[in-house]
Amino acid sequence: MQRWTLDLNRPDWRNALEASAVCSAITNGELVAVPTETVYGLTADATNGEACAKIFAAKGRPQFNPLISHVASLADAQRHGEFDSPALDLAKAFWPGPLTLVVPKKKTSTISDLATAGLSTVALRVPEGPVMRFLSEKTGCPLAAPSANRSGKISPTRADDVIADLEPCLSFIIDAGPCSIGIESTIVGLTDGTPRLLRPGGTTREDLQGVLGSSLQGAPTNVQPDAPEAPGMLLSHYAPNAKMSLNACEAVPSDALLSFGPDRVPGADQAYAEFNLSPRGDFAEAAANLFRGMRTLDASGTNTIRVQFIPSFGLGEAINDRLQRAAAPR
Ligand code: AMP
Ligand code: MG
Repeated sequence: MQRWTLDLNRPDWRNALEASAVCSAITNGELVAVPTETVYGLTADATNGEACAKIFAAKGRPQFNPLISHVASLADAQRHGEFDSPALDLAKAFWPGPLTLVVPKKKTSTISDLATAGLSTVALRVPEGPVMRFLSEKTGCPLAAPSANRSGKISPTRADDVIADLEPCLSFIIDAGPCSIGIESTIVGLTDGTPRLLRPGGTTREDLQGVLGSSLQGAPTNVQPDAPEAPGMLLSHYAPNAKMSLNACEAVPSDALLSFGPDRVPGADQAYAEFNLSPRGDFAEAAANLFRGMRTLDASGTNTIRVQFIPSFGLGEAINDRLQRAAAPR
């Protein structure tokens, strides 16, 4: 594996990347770890079934769980999916950005059936992170990219997280520093005439509803771990080795504490270890720190991570979703 450190503040980063062997690795069906604004993605040519199979194998991901394809523009996305008027409104308002749209897959789409888990729908995103867009544009490929971690484990927001989990599977990792948003994209389903929030994430429900002019419904089916209708909604996910205990009212010396905001729970100073997601109580800062905080406390050797209450509006909805899945029975 080759590590490529990229300074996105330098105006010539595109030339450097284009001159590298990263693009040809992708078109040859190899796996590359790519930073986005949400998390690092384990990336492959979405039109190449064998390359997508490598993603599932590397992650240990069940094949019923489809992959998001990343493209450079709305026009590129429309080659693969049918956009009705709410889908177009959302794409225009939030792309590039942390929003994935699940839409009917076009018969002419070249995205492999493995990437879409054989469904008649396709998940598409134009990321804000410029590296993924650049690679899609240069290779001419939609890029399948789930988070670059073993399935069910904590998502990676820094290159070292990826290397710890997946180094042997990668041809390249592009290291552009920590991800700015730090939690995965919001997923909205637009396949049955009703926009549905399939997963909260980096674009808030409130912002989406502002554009749609109506409230977002939830997923259409009851959540079953192996039901393809809601393929990504696995109850246990983002899990550290330590047990997670939510909405802690107090800290104890035997347990680590994942805290939030300026208010201290009783006993906080005696906790086994502490990581404050945002001492000033800012959701965006807390989201960006969430997975690093979970990894840090997990590495402290504690058996249990207690989590202070975090309100569930704005980005707090996605933060609580990740925490609840991390705390779910495994
Ligand atoms: P991940 O790559 O782990 O962030 O997860 C991507 C998620 O996107 C999956 O787990 C699904 O929940 C969702 N997804 C992708 N494709 C589809 C699809 N065609 N229909 C419904 N959900 C999808
Ligand atoms: Mg993931």
